[in-house]
Amino acid sequence: MKIGFIGLGNMGAPMALNLLKAGHSLNVFDLNDAAVHSLVGAGAKAAASPKAAATGVEWVVTMLPAAAHVKRVLTADDGVLAGVPEGTIIIDCSTIDPATVKSMAEAAKANGNTFVDAPVSGGTGGATAGTLTFMVGASAADFRKIRPVLQAMGRNIVRCGETSTGQVAKICNNLVLGITMAGVSEAMALGEALGIDAAVLAGVINTSTGRCWSSDTCNPFPGVLDSAPAARGYTGGFGADLMLKDLGLATDAAKFARQPAYLGALTQQLYQTLSARGEGRLDFSAVINLYRGIKVAI
Ligand code: NAD
Repeated sequence: MKIGFIGLGNMGAPMALNLLKAGHSLNVFDLNDAAVHSLVGAGAKAAASPKAAATGVEWVVTMLPAAAHVKRVLTADDGVLAGVPEGTIIIDCSTIDPATVKSMAEAAKANGNTFVDAPVSGGTGGATAGTLTFMVGASAADFRKIRPVLQAMGRNIVRCGETSTGQVAKICNNLVLGITMAGVSEAMALGEALGIDAAVLAGVINTSTGRCWSSDTCNPFPGVLDSAPAARGYTGGFGADLMLKDLGLATDAAKFARQPAYLGALTQQLYQTLSARGEGRLDFSAVINLYRGIKVAI
């Protein structure tokens, strides 16, 4: 199938590569020329704008940092909606707020298109391996149509309900993730201060009731896991500023729903502090630096 793919960052680039590997033909666009060149090297066609990337395609996939980028990429004069053929489904895999999803869905509908939210979890490792989880907000009929496209990039494709419910699931998941990473960081730093070996402590947690992804797969303490971002100076992985954005989405949604979000608000401030220290581009597990007093050079 012919697909327009926009946003070739840490996640988008490996996702686009998997679509190419599955035999789809891709028109790609990103503001970063180097990212575009690397995809062209793998067989994609470079487009000069989101409009050009969407012209003549059967599907559009977007993987952008935040809501403002999605709005711009869709609705600008040289945006997707200006070029995309009528009837085409636009699949947005970015993590953004449910209200923006609804307004983009209305704009797409007015243009004769459908906008579907399909945020992901699984990180850059999952994006590369093609094992992402997709949380989809779409009608049952649209879900059936987009499933084969998503299957080239992920393993677990879940329909969460109608438009925007994919983002609701994603925001709630990342609320848990941010809080558990802060919790594991607090515990690992306390263990260090009290003199236990970090690997021994992590081993106990990972076979006890404290076990969670933040501890057994992405442990923030350097040296505990060779495959974790902590082992490579907190590079790669899921940026702390993206976690800050997601916690903002969760606390905003909580305000809207008049729901308390005690730990979410506190964890958001931890990430705000990390960002203010200039460490927002590091992997989000670098939040342990707030506890260990270490400033990593960027
Ligand atoms: P990223 O910052 O690495 O990539 C974003 C890409 O979008 C960049 O290449 C940037 O140049 C491009 N871009 C920005 N504005 C653009 C525009 N107007 N037109 C075209 N391209 C534009 O971000 P990422 O890590 O790939 O994350 C993308 C989304 O996925 C975010 O919403 C993030 O919250 C979510 N997410 C990330 C991870 C992760 O582990 N990195 C995991 C799950 C979900």
